[in-house]
Amino acid sequence: MVRGEGSFLFDGAGNRYLDFVQGWAVNALGHCPPELVAALGRQSRELISPSPAYHNARAHELAVQLTRLTGFDYAYFCNSGAEANEGAIKLCRKWGRLHRGGADEIVTTHGSFHGRTLAAMSASGKPGFSTLFPPEVPGFRKVPFGDAGAMRAAISERTVALLVEPIQGEAGVIVPNPNYLVELRRLADEHSLLLVADEVQTGMGRTGTLLACEYSRVRPDIVTLGKGLGGGVPIAGMLFTQRANCFSLGDQGGTYHGNPLMAAAALAVLETLTEPGFFEAVRERARILEALLSAVARKHHATLRGRGLLQALVLASPEAVGLRDACFERGLLVNACQEDTLRLMPSLRVTREEIGMCVSTIDEALHAL
Ligand SMILES: *Cc1c(COP(=O)(O)O)cnc(C)c1O
Repeated sequence: MVRGEGSFLFDGAGNRYLDFVQGWAVNALGHCPPELVAALGRQSRELISPSPAYHNARAHELAVQLTRLTGFDYAYFCNSGAEANEGAIKLCRKWGRLHRGGADEIVTTHGSFHGRTLAAMSASGKPGFSTLFPPEVPGFRKVPFGDAGAMRAAISERTVALLVEPIQGEAGVIVPNPNYLVELRRLADEHSLLLVADEVQTGMGRTGTLLACEYSRVRPDIVTLGKGLGGGVPIAGMLFTQRANCFSLGDQGGTYHGNPLMAAAALAVLETLTEPGFFEAVRERARILEALLSAVARKHHATLRGRGLLQALVLASPEAVGLRDACFERGLLVNACQEDTLRLMPSLRVTREEIGMCVSTIDEALHAL
């Protein structure tokens, strides 16, 4: 691939692809959006890396904006979603030492994906991860996703936190009952635990609200962000409450953490997302996508699941890879996240026409299969 513009990618041979992968749900505003290009240009002329030893204006501004919009008290920025989850795990463990008599176990869920550092892999319930690079980092216990009773049963003296994705992304866009997060919040409160939401994929407007947790009206103690936060450049972060905060200076750090170039990009994304009517427009695009895709799904005995512009088509047979390739041949980029599941994560600015093109290509590809 050599060039991107909005919903389209172009390869070196001049082929054009309609992109419903968007850097893996990263390019919230599509490829090379003018706001992002301008912000990066402006910031690169002002300041790129002052070193993490000093606060910088852009990271500060981003922290102020994000905490103001979400109601959290603190923000910390890093480079990747996995690193954001590492930070959350560290905060939980320290909190357990200070407030829960040394409890350090975090309950997570089967099928979950939290990233590819060793601790994030150990927290993940992705099949195959646990045997890939043994030994695993200890301190994680896994229960079925969407089952608050199983979570309750897994809580012990050793438990310090519950960690879940509001919607499991890599597992195939698994949407739990809307009460699930409410029940986890209640469990965390009853047992004095921290509730951590991994919103690396679901956050930043992907599901039609700034955070997916808003849908359940639940405020976790810690939220991790990544992917859409930078609109295509590597910045991730964690937001947390006063209650959860126990970091001291030096507990967490990184050479590029909070660097102003990436923070400027995230500010440009956030400014666009918070323009009046932006999320309403995302939800309207999602309704169009759902309406068109569910008609195609019915024709091919498939089903649809997802929220906002994170959608999956679940096929009647394990043919997602074949379907992805048939779409690719027809100039459409989609992701086969499971054997039977095709995932769509377009630009939040995808047009009605592009949605129509995507769905009719999937229809054609399904016929061809
Ligand atoms: C992608 C993803 C991560 C990992 O983010 P990286 O930036 O690849 O480290 C973590 N959690 C979820 C839910 C993700 O989708």
